[in-house]
Order: sequence, then C-alpha cells, then structure tokens
Amino acid sequence: MKKVLLLGSQHGDERLGDSLIRRIKLYHPDLLKYVDFCIGNPKAHRLNKRYVESDLNRSYHKKLDTYEATRANKVLAKINDGGYDLVLDLHTTTDKVEPFFIAPFKHSGSIKNFFRISPISKIVIMQHSIVNKSLIGNTDNAISIEASVHMIDKRFLESLIESIEKFIQSGLTEAKVKDFFYVDLLIDKTNYTSKQFKQMKNFELFEKSFFPILVRSASYKRYKTYRGFGATFKETKEI
Ligand SMILES: [Zn+2]
Repeated sequence: MKKVLLLGSQHGDERLGDSLIRRIKLYHPDLLKYVDFCIGNPKAHRLNKRYVESDLNRSYHKKLDTYEATRANKVLAKINDGGYDLVLDLHTTTDKVEPFFIAPFKHSGSIKNFFRISPISKIVIMQHSIVNKSLIGNTDNAISIEASVHMIDKRFLESLIESIEKFIQSGLTEAKVKDFFYVDLLIDKTNYTSKQFKQMKNFELFEKSFFPILVRSASYKRYKTYRGFGATFKETKEI
C-alpha cells in the first residue's frame, strides 16, 4: 500500500484541504491509515489570509527569513520523514477554470501514475524559475492541484478521493491522453492593456503567443507585477 500526504492551505485562505480531509474522515475513515493531512500555513489559515509575511509557495529558498520560510522547512522535513509516495498540494482559485495539476518538468513514476488514475486532464508543467521557490520544485513526489472555489462540491471531492484510493491500492493503471501546458512566463501586468486582459481565456491561445493560466484569479489580480502564468507550448500526449 502507498502513503499519501495531503497538504492543505499553503495559502491560508484556500480550504480545499479542509474540505477533503473532513470528507475522508466522515465517509472514508479506512483511508486514514494511508493518508496524512497537514496544514501548510497554520497562522495564515487561522487568519484566513493568503500569507502572513511571504507567500509560502514562494518561500522554499534559503535566503528568506520569514515565518513562511520556517514553515517551508517544516513542510519539507515532514515530507522527508513521512516517506510519502505522493504529496498532493491542494489549492483553490477564484478563477472559473476546470481543475488542473501543476507539476515540475521532471516527475517521478508515482506522479505519472497519479496523472493516469485521475480524471483531471490538464497538466501544467512549471518551467519558469519561480518553481525553484515553490514546494513542487523542492521535493520529488509533490504535485499541486488547482480547483476553482466555484466547483468544489461533493462530486469533485469524491472523485479526488476515488483517485487517491486507487493510487494507494495499486498505483498502476493504463495509459491516458492528457494535455500538457509548459509554463515559461509570467503574464507581466505592464505588457498588456486591460482590454487585452479581458480577451485572455484560460488554456486558450492568446494572440498566437501563449496560453494564459489563472489569468482571472483574485490573488494574482492583487499581485503588483504579474497576473497568472503563460504557457508558450502545449502538447497532447499519452502517458
Ligand atoms: Zn494557492
């Protein structure tokens, strides 16, 4: 049997992890032998804020001296000590977008198996250097899931639990076709007019140039410099 860590609230105001573990405890308690849960940023979670001093998912680097940098080290230590086959880093967005994975370019066999098991069809491969400061760039078996707050319901949670259950039991399944989006740019706010931003649609090629991702997320609207990610290359392939 495989072991899975569910990492909730790397961003304190995102509650997919809470909803998922609550549902597992209530309706699938047998899974708790193989599934651990941890809150990434407890202080921000308590305050219902994205972060306290620095965005935790940009704090996985040595030079930083913030509460979140300390948490980043604790999260990595928990992952190393736990011997997990898979870490699911659970995020939500206010953007109306179908759920998708975010993964590093080089991913382990465990990650590939989970991609195959899951009905989620879009995989965003993070090639921009910000990945080096995020969780998935600093450990082997972690992937992020982004789900729209508008879509987190019983059906979505149950489908996620079913995938986790299948992964724990066998970890093997037949090949599946997935869409890969390779992110190598951040959508710089100063480069586009508000009219252009309105025209950008998630996962649809914009001006023959890139596929916007999370372009309408409230957290990125608040960021000073960029508004979501851009993928300049897309491929559909069997994995
Ligand atoms: Zn997040």
